[in-house]
Amino acid sequence: MPTRARPIRLLVRASLLAAGLLAPAAVGATPSVPDRAAVERPAAERPAVAIAAETGAIPEGGTRLTVVLSRPVEARAFVMERPDRAIVDLPEVNFQLPPEAGRKRDGLVASYRYGLFAPGRSRIVIDLAQAATVARVATSTRPRDGATLLTIDLSRSDREAFRRAAQPPEPARAANPPTGEGIDSRPLVIVDAGHGGIDPGAIAGNGVYEKDIVFGVAQGLVQRLEAGGRIRVQMTRDRDVFVPLAERVRIARDARADLFVSIHADSISAAPQVRGATIYTGSEKATDAESARLADRENKADATAGADQGDGPGDVADILQELTLRETRGFSARFAKGLLTRLSGVMEMSVKPHREAGFRVLRSPDVPSVLVELGYLSSKRDLDLLLSDEWRTNVTGQMAGAIEAFFAARLPPAVTARGAEAPRIGKAAQIAPAQIGPAPVSP
Ligand SMILES: [Zn+2]
Repeated sequence: MPTRARPIRLLVRASLLAAGLLAPAAVGATPSVPDRAAVERPAAERPAVAIAAETGAIPEGGTRLTVVLSRPVEARAFVMERPDRAIVDLPEVNFQLPPEAGRKRDGLVASYRYGLFAPGRSRIVIDLAQAATVARVATSTRPRDGATLLTIDLSRSDREAFRRAAQPPEPARAANPPTGEGIDSRPLVIVDAGHGGIDPGAIAGNGVYEKDIVFGVAQGLVQRLEAGGRIRVQMTRDRDVFVPLAERVRIARDARADLFVSIHADSISAAPQVRGATIYTGSEKATDAESARLADRENKADATAGADQGDGPGDVADILQELTLRETRGFSARFAKGLLTRLSGVMEMSVKPHREAGFRVLRSPDVPSVLVELGYLSSKRDLDLLLSDEWRTNVTGQMAGAIEAFFAARLPPAVTARGAEAPRIGKAAQIAPAQIGPAPVSP
């Protein structure tokens, strides 16, 4: 039976329910339980699987979303404005829902989408057909098969009540101790290691994967930035896991990031002499045919992983979004320039080191974004460097320096001019249900 109702921010201690359901495998075993647990990876540590979801009217009025899960999870729900939506935060859930899930309007639910929000965290985003608040989040056990039913009850509200309920989401900043007056106002940088999981990216002649090289560099960059202490950092993936391109963009936008840095490495097997790094910023029009081809190739990452979700946000432009995007691209270009200057000192740059192309991960209208192609896996000389610790240290040091310099110039007088705040409305901020979908396949 559902737990009792509480107002907006609800925390369901579903683990209480779990107590009776968990397999007693790790209990009463040998005294070395931790070791055994680590090896066997008990079911409780694997992501719950969502196998079905449906919406329907509830007797007291309103709309209920029910998700059928393999086991209980801890869920937290809240509403957000512009666009009006209800967010359900979950631990990592392996969504195995039919493709049509979430696309049908029903009562207060205009549509909903789901997916991995950040490594280890999943999220269901319910687009509201009208102002509504979360009346209840609850889990119960379905008697016939022991499955867990997670129910999210929405009730109609007026605009004022909705607005009061729609507070900014609680930032997950445990790892970043607050500075100043309790709020961590340091700029937030999203470091995006390309590819991952079942998508290896480019593959070098010696069998080394792009995903592993770029992850190493991304980690190095994060360490440098964290050591500096002036920048908050979040990764789109913190391990070898597949994350769809639209999800990477969404992570940056939902976190209200100040900068997005995507790290890749290219390969042209037909031209092993071609080498050097290139910094890309987003544009509908590619600088040259080579850049267009590269963007096409990188944009196929989702298809490679069998999870192509169609085009990302930004295809339907309104005037406001267009203005925001233009401003954001100005910042992207400025950062690219600073980064180029610094990288030129420590690494070989390509013939045309700053180019533009239509990369899907560079489509956030409100987060300055660049994509760095570190070099060519097809070039023996580049590959040797890409695998060298010394090179990586130099490069991540310069990247961190460029990031700090970018904010040093912009932040102090312009903390309120985040550009992104106001225009976060309308279609610009809408993400069609088609862009999420089946959960990324975890290895
Ligand atoms: Zn790549």
